Amino acid sequence: MSDKSWNVSFETKCQGMNLDVEDKYHAISFPIYQTATFSHPGLGESSGYDYSRQSNPTRSQLESILAGLENGSAALAFSSGMSAITTLFELFGPGDHVVIDEDLYGGSVRLFDRICKKRGINFSRADLSTEDIEGYITDETKAVYLETPTNPMMHVTDIAKLAAVTKEKGVLLIVDNTFMSPYFQNPLDLGADVVVHSGTKFICGHHDTIGGFLVVNDKVLEEKLRYLCTTLGNAMAPFDSWLMIRGIRTLAVRMERAQENALAIAKHLRECPLVTKVIYPGFSDHPGYELMKKQARGFGAMITFEVASPEIVRTILDNAQLFYFAESLGGTETLITYPITQTHAEIPPEQKEKIGITDRLLRLSVGIEGVDDLITEIDRLFSLADKK
Ligand SMILES: *Cc1c(COP(=O)(O)O)cnc(C)c1O
Repeated sequence: MSDKSWNVSFETKCQGMNLDVEDKYHAISFPIYQTATFSHPGLGESSGYDYSRQSNPTRSQLESILAGLENGSAALAFSSGMSAITTLFELFGPGDHVVIDEDLYGGSVRLFDRICKKRGINFSRADLSTEDIEGYITDETKAVYLETPTNPMMHVTDIAKLAAVTKEKGVLLIVDNTFMSPYFQNPLDLGADVVVHSGTKFICGHHDTIGGFLVVNDKVLEEKLRYLCTTLGNAMAPFDSWLMIRGIRTLAVRMERAQENALAIAKHLRECPLVTKVIYPGFSDHPGYELMKKQARGFGAMITFEVASPEIVRTILDNAQLFYFAESLGGTETLITYPITQTHAEIPPEQKEKIGITDRLLRLSVGIEGVDDLITEIDRLFSLADKK
């Protein structure tokens, strides 16, 4: 656990200093403890580590860093974002009820619909960015689950306002903070009980590792989740933990640069005649702008935009060179995603229509390339589309 008396900046915390995992050779790059098991000094004795499914020094180092970045008391690292969420939902059982936002990552919706429902957990969907939550909470409600800004429609939800209600009702407030990363937003500070991350995205930052996190500020909850993680056996591997530690070292500078590029690109897209809508919460006319300014320290690097026809989508995706047509987000290189067939393929059609995920909608995860190159690429793609 990070020593709170060291009141250092986020950028400094990213360097992973001052943690409780000691390396006897004082290596600057934290060692990869690539071991499945640990020998015992004697009967009834332990070095503090017994078996890597349960705990591992490289993973512990990463968990301490992440807890520090999210201002939590503890973090748990999992083999993927989905395994983090799966483990979290093992807290709930038959008859329990969870309120989920209607605009969520497609994989989470699939987990809730196909797996959790089978286990007898009931769900209600609400637009948590606009609707009052009280009407949805019953005696069986155990949690409220959301992302803000949402994926891909960028609805912004007031975390502190919801937390006031969930606290009073004794319901857990769970926030998937993947889009913002701990650099721009800390839901625990706003009253959330659990923060979820797909570490695969901004935290890792290089599109080379899959991982996930749960961060909490409560010892009892931590113990329950550690028990589940050890039992289910889905913790992050030592080498992946090391890659995450390495990625986090540049988290702050990556987020700054990616956001700067995103704002320039969002503004540029607004000027493109074939673009019918640009959704970026950093625009002062975005409905969530003021709330973002209140509860976050930035607007992130994700842009959703709509073009005039599905043919334009095809031209863009078939011809993209500088940015990659790929699922995922949060890396140093720019990715373009087609939510209707990729991230949100699993969402039922009526639901997609209700949210506004059309066949003309695209999502950009802006990287840290030279912004002029990205703008040139956008112009090239639109001029190709224009010729068709
Ligand atoms: C990618 C993602 C997940 C799932 O994480 P994996 O690491 O791919 O398992 C969950 N939530 C959000 C918002 C995501 O973008």
